[in-house]
Amino acid sequence: MSSVVLDKVTKVYPGGYLAVDRLSLQADDGEFLVLLGPSGCGKSTLLRMIAGLEEITEGDLWLDGEMANHLAPRDRDVAMVFQNGALYPHRTVRGNIAFPLEIAKSDPSMVRERVTELSKALHIDETLDRRPGTLSGGQRQRVAMGRAIVRQPKLFLMDEPLSNLDAGMRTELRMEISSLVRSLGVTTIYVTHDQVEALTLADRIAILNRGVLQDVGTPAQIYNDPATAFVAAFLNSQQLNLLAAGVRTPQNQYVMLDFGPHRLTLPWSDPRAYAISQHTGGQVLVGLRPDGLAPVPESYEGPSFYGRVRALEYHGHEWLAYLECGMPAVPVPEPPDQRRRVNGARNGTGKVSGMMRRLFSPRVPEPQDQEQVGQNTNSGIHRRSDLIVRLGNRPVWRTGDAAKVAVDLSRIMIFTSDGTRIDPPRR
Ligand code: ADP
Repeated sequence: MSSVVLDKVTKVYPGGYLAVDRLSLQADDGEFLVLLGPSGCGKSTLLRMIAGLEEITEGDLWLDGEMANHLAPRDRDVAMVFQNGALYPHRTVRGNIAFPLEIAKSDPSMVRERVTELSKALHIDETLDRRPGTLSGGQRQRVAMGRAIVRQPKLFLMDEPLSNLDAGMRTELRMEISSLVRSLGVTTIYVTHDQVEALTLADRIAILNRGVLQDVGTPAQIYNDPATAFVAAFLNSQQLNLLAAGVRTPQNQYVMLDFGPHRLTLPWSDPRAYAISQHTGGQVLVGLRPDGLAPVPESYEGPSFYGRVRALEYHGHEWLAYLECGMPAVPVPEPPDQRRRVNGARNGTGKVSGMMRRLFSPRVPEPQDQEQVGQNTNSGIHRRSDLIVRLGNRPVWRTGDAAKVAVDLSRIMIFTSDGTRIDPPRR
């Protein structure tokens, strides 16, 4: 078992791509930590730096309290499983799993025992005498996992090990990975872009975007209390409604969020009211999950929005409604694209210069973004201006109906214009 500490770790690839930017993170002894984020956000780079396969440009890596920046990969006692766990084609399953122990000249009876035990845990005990070419994708990944873990490494690193498998196999193997790794108590860092995998597997999730750590916490913390608009949007299979609102405090009586045709008011007793009021005269971003909105009759007088149903979408287990409410949704603010060259932007100390940091400062949504007709779902049947409402398994409206939705004020999330929470979550 082992702990991993990353302290302001930066990776600039030759050619000048800033792939990981001053990232600090810790995996505790025996913890299952998931690195989650969209493709290209720097997850694999981070994992490869921990394994010693990629050099760290700046910052420190500590493994089990030992400074490891310059430790050779073989001295790190780390095992890795990749997307395509490559196996030795001419060795049997047994021979593949046993290989690391045979190289280490372990006692043959111990090797036999360990291979049998692991193959049972991984449900491949009936394939031990077969060659990899005769196995399914899921079985091959199980063998790769067995081979990685057979010598009981201190640290287990997995890079999208399930992404090449079909949905059923992914679910099955996901549960097995979870129980195997937990029963062995090996510290595990697992890379994925799949939010369901992250939520179901992790003790804690670290979310990255464009090389920058966005948030880290337990799955429930990250889902219910996200630190940034990006995290809220990324962990939301139904899409987040993100709206711009002006902040007003009329006669200091309450805090008003002004969406143009719609308004919401928060009493001073609301724990967020003071933080929001600091933006009086300015704008904030308001995040609403589609299941924080509920259809109500026209006579409803509580906090609500109204509009016309532009489209209904059937998702099997639920219906989603797209309401035209006259409130343009804004794009989720993102850190700037890290793939810009940082060559020449580093000063004599090797640090990224202040000027370059400013160039990399977060992007505030422009008005033209709000006008844009969005392709922000696969369906293409609605626009960015639509408010997405979860209806459950009954479509209570028809296309073209006038509709009113109650807003659960306890579930709205309020961000500054760069996407940071106004009331930062405690971790
Ligand atoms: P992820 O695992 O999140 O998909 P990666 O860590 O593989 O992302 O890549 C992060 C960024 O670094 C990407 O923009 C990628 O194109 C870039 N990158 C990765 N490897 C190299 C390399 N060897 N040279 C230059 N750029 C690279």
